[in-house]
Amino acid sequence: MKKTTMKFTVILTLVAVVIIAAIVVISNKQAVKETEIPRQEVDLTGQPLLGEKDAPVTVVEFGDFKCPSCKAWGEMIYPQLVEDYVLTGDVNFSYVNVLFHGNESILASLGAESVYKQDPKVYWDFHKKVFDAQPEAARHDDVWVTTEKLLEIASEYSTISQEQLRQDIDGELTMEQVDIDKELFIAHNVSQTPTIKINGITIENPFDYEEIKEVIDLELEAKSNE
Ligand code: CA
Repeated sequence: MKKTTMKFTVILTLVAVVIIAAIVVISNKQAVKETEIPRQEVDLTGQPLLGEKDAPVTVVEFGDFKCPSCKAWGEMIYPQLVEDYVLTGDVNFSYVNVLFHGNESILASLGAESVYKQDPKVYWDFHKKVFDAQPEAARHDDVWVTTEKLLEIASEYSTISQEQLRQDIDGELTMEQVDIDKELFIAHNVSQTPTIKINGITIENPFDYEEIKEVIDLELEAKSNE
């Protein structure tokens, strides 16, 4: 064999090896992608948002003001999440109303949407105070969400018109927003509250803060590598 032919054969072999290696790498990457956890991002247009608008990670709670577990989540997990991730600018947080407890869920949602519409700055405080007003778990089936109760909670905010709030609740003027939330929780197959989604990934156990941290940290890492 001539020297040049030999060289050519070697080069050809090397090229073939490189191509095969590339194919293996690409198909491996695809395999990794296929085993990725399913995600469905939530369209948060018009929803309240706590934290930096452009934070790399978004946590969404699908919650119900009448749900005792949501009250517990707000007391046990949410403050930690805010301290560790929202205040640092890594995470922003949103809340979508779920209506699993009938008329009272609707009343509370109508009121919350009214407060958010009137003054987004006081929304999260009002939100917390509605949950604070929820009776202890054993009595949560008692009727406690009423227009009067919501007016009373909102009365401490000078930017919230009591008259507007009453009209929004009793006249269902904010029902359009509540319906948007309803479409969202149906589209995301929410079957229990609270349901927590991180960048569209549903957390298996919302009360497992370690799982929440793990997913947030992975998402932050992925974003910083983009
Ligand atoms: Ca909403």
